[in-house]
Formats: sequence, structure tokens, C-alpha cells
Amino acid sequence: MTGRTVLDQLKPKHQVFVAEIGAYEKGKIKQPEPPTPLPAFNDSQVRGHGLKIIGQYDNLYIFCQSSDGLLVIDQHAAHERLLFEKLKKQFLHGTIARQTLLFPETVELSVADLQKVEQYGDEIEKMGFTIREFGGASYVISSIPALGRNMSASELFLDILEQFGASSGSKREGSLLEDVLASMACKAAVKAGDKLPTEEIEALLDNMVKADLFSHCPHGRPVLKNFSANDIKKWFHRS
Ligand SMILES: [Zn+2]
Repeated sequence: MTGRTVLDQLKPKHQVFVAEIGAYEKGKIKQPEPPTPLPAFNDSQVRGHGLKIIGQYDNLYIFCQSSDGLLVIDQHAAHERLLFEKLKKQFLHGTIARQTLLFPETVELSVADLQKVEQYGDEIEKMGFTIREFGGASYVISSIPALGRNMSASELFLDILEQFGASSGSKREGSLLEDVLASMACKAAVKAGDKLPTEEIEALLDNMVKADLFSHCPHGRPVLKNFSANDIKKWFHRS
């Protein structure tokens, strides 16, 4: 069994994700490798993603059988990647999908946070937040990014403001925005320790296929690892 301390060391480094938003926008980002699609598992039980789910290990890793062996997926890393790419696409094409709150929340902002709202108002809006002044240092939040619907609106908003401040000054705006979106994706993604029902695992695999996550060398922390049938044979001295 892997200890918690080892898992903690594996926390992702968001800044390694892709390149800056400006480059992405101009189509400068190249795919790291030509696709080498995973061969489908030939079984009538499996769905479109072509993998046979074996199960979840340690509420963190999804084990699947492919036609080429054993595939292990880090559920948080995979989901976070999917959400990050989705958020980035939405942001670049206008605005991130938002969710109107039934009960708008009021937050009291510090002087530093008020400055950030002033400076990054447009970006905050594009990220799916609808805010308006409510007298003094108070703001009313009436919508949040749709994927944040299970989170407290004020907590999410304050966290995003904190991200804007974390690297002010030296950082270029593009990578600053990426860090904010990456943080949003991390918060909304399934966690290490979440027990996933089979339907959720199926949906995750389907979305990974659609996003081509199986055929590209991942940036930063690996999302999956394939153990080929041959390697497994060799471990057991079979030929
Ligand atoms: Zn994360």
C-alpha cells in the first residue's frame, strides 16, 4: 500500500500545464507527439472507449484492461486535465459556462482584493462570475462557473482572487490566467480518495477518449500508465 505521505508528494504542479494562453490562442501550441491510439479491447461488454474496467484501487487509481495489457489511470489527474482543457477552451472562445445562484452570496473584500477586482474585472467576468458592488467593500456574487456548483460561491471567488494575487508582478498575464484556471480545475475535479461509481468511471473514460488523452504524452504529471501484456509476462518469467 502506498502511504499518504508519498501521495502528498505527488501533488500536481499546475504551472507545467501546456504553454501560455496567448500562444494557445494563436495556434502555436503543438501536440507533443503524434497519436498512437490505444488498441481497443475486443469484447462485446465494453463500450465505445474500448476498455474493460477492472476496478478502482485505493479510491484513486482506475484499473482497466486494454487489448495491450493493463492500463492504470490516476482519476484526479485525468479529470483535472479534462476540466482544465475545457475551461481554457471556453475562456478563449468567450466565457466560461456559468451557473446562476438561487441565493446570491455577499462577500466582504479586503483592500487588496478590491484592487484585484478592479484590475481583473473583465477576466473574473469571463471566468463565469457575476459580481456587483453592494456598498463599501461588499460585493454580491450572483453567478459562478458552472463546474463550481458544488462549492461555496464566496469561497470559490475568494480563492480565485487569491490566485490572481499569488504571482502578481513578474508573471505574464497568459500564464497567470492559466494558473487560475488550473486551480479551478483542480478544485472541481474528483479527488484522490473519492469512491467512483462505475457510471462515473465509464463517463471519465468516454471523455478521455473524446479529448484524446489516451494518445498523447501528457504534460507534467502522468495521467495514465500502460503495462503491456508482454511486460507482465516477463515479470512472471512466462514466454
Ligand atoms: Zn489537482
